[in-house]
Amino acid sequence: MKIAVLKEAEAGELRVSATPETVKKYVALGASVAVEAGAGQGASIADADYEAAGATIVADRKDALKDADAVLAVQGPDPKALAGMKKGAWLIAALNPFGKRERVDEYAKAGIEALALEFMPRITRAQSMDILSSQANLAGYKAVLDAAAEYGRAFPMMMTAAGTVSAAKVFVMGVGVAGLQAIATARRLGGQVSATDVRSATREQIQSLGAKAIFVEDVKGIEGEGAGGYATEMSDEYKAAQAALVSSHIAKQDIVITTALIPGRPAPRLISDAQLQTMKPGSVIVDLAVEQGGNVEGAVAGEVVVKHGVKIVGHRNVPSRLAADTSALFSRNIFNFLSAFWDAEKKAPVFPDDDEIVLGIRLTKGGEVVSERLKA
Ligand code: NAD
Repeated sequence: MKIAVLKEAEAGELRVSATPETVKKYVALGASVAVEAGAGQGASIADADYEAAGATIVADRKDALKDADAVLAVQGPDPKALAGMKKGAWLIAALNPFGKRERVDEYAKAGIEALALEFMPRITRAQSMDILSSQANLAGYKAVLDAAAEYGRAFPMMMTAAGTVSAAKVFVMGVGVAGLQAIATARRLGGQVSATDVRSATREQIQSLGAKAIFVEDVKGIEGEGAGGYATEMSDEYKAAQAALVSSHIAKQDIVITTALIPGRPAPRLISDAQLQTMKPGSVIVDLAVEQGGNVEGAVAGEVVVKHGVKIVGHRNVPSRLAADTSALFSRNIFNFLSAFWDAEKKAPVFPDDDEIVLGIRLTKGGEVVSERLKA
């Protein structure tokens, strides 16, 4: 079994899909690992560290791909950059199957078996393999720090000889993995935190983190966790009630962190330009959903814009802003996945066709697109 670890090609992508820690573990399982030179640079990992862990460093992508049974990456590579990859070999990465749908067809055509890590089912057995959770967790943390950096005031209440500094009021919209970490981080910094979601199960989670739950009460939201833990598009009646609730709450907030997503759909619009105008100048909004269309009207991916005196932060690829830690977690997610299916005798993973995880993440096989989610 040969594993190739690619150097990421997308602009601004600093993460890497294997660390010396996971390389050592693959080698211990009997695999050989080829790492493209400089792959770890963005995550502060030197080629020499990979070598010390048992990997071979290769200067040329072609040599990394040659004979590789599994190719690891963070983002799905351009199919053209995979020329020379063996038919039937696995490509394991966050392949953005809905956003980069045409690439999936190309992978199939090339005979590659593409495994999309973001399609990992959210079942207990797969928790340690879940890149969405591991990356969103740190993105939620970083969103609060990004807000703090842009905010011209302090987070905690401070009593000084010159008078009192009041605590920042922080509102978190969307309480999935990123939102929960944002609440915890904002609380740790001393902010006064409130949060909202459409799924009723989050109310208790918000309260258990010491934040105030702000919920639409007169129209029913999503009972419990929602299907697969996910939200769906809400009714127009709910949207109107939510907009009224947000309007009354947001004018009093200093910081807003938005994280709301609906799988396979554009992000729901949660803050309109009119609502922005009611906020105090100097307030800061971080829109973590900006690359999926944005929760905030006027948010621009890759930019910090000022509208009506409010800063709207729209950093792209927030997990990459903490590349050393997010790479460590991403790499462990992949290792946990491969090792769970490892066959000790074959010294390679075996993926049963009827396994829930395999059925979830496999996009292509035998030249065809086989994912039910893509065929639907
Ligand atoms: P996500 O990134 O898809 O969405 C973020 C949040 O936005 C969600 O909480 C969602 O309900 C919310 N949202 C969507 N539309 C909204 C709207 N109009 N207004 C307000 N909020 C809105 O979600 P996620 O972070 O991937 O987490 C989804 C769930 O899955 C969570 O309950 C999480 O705990 C659960 N989960 C389970 C497992 C597991 O069991 N293995 C692993 C990870 C996550």
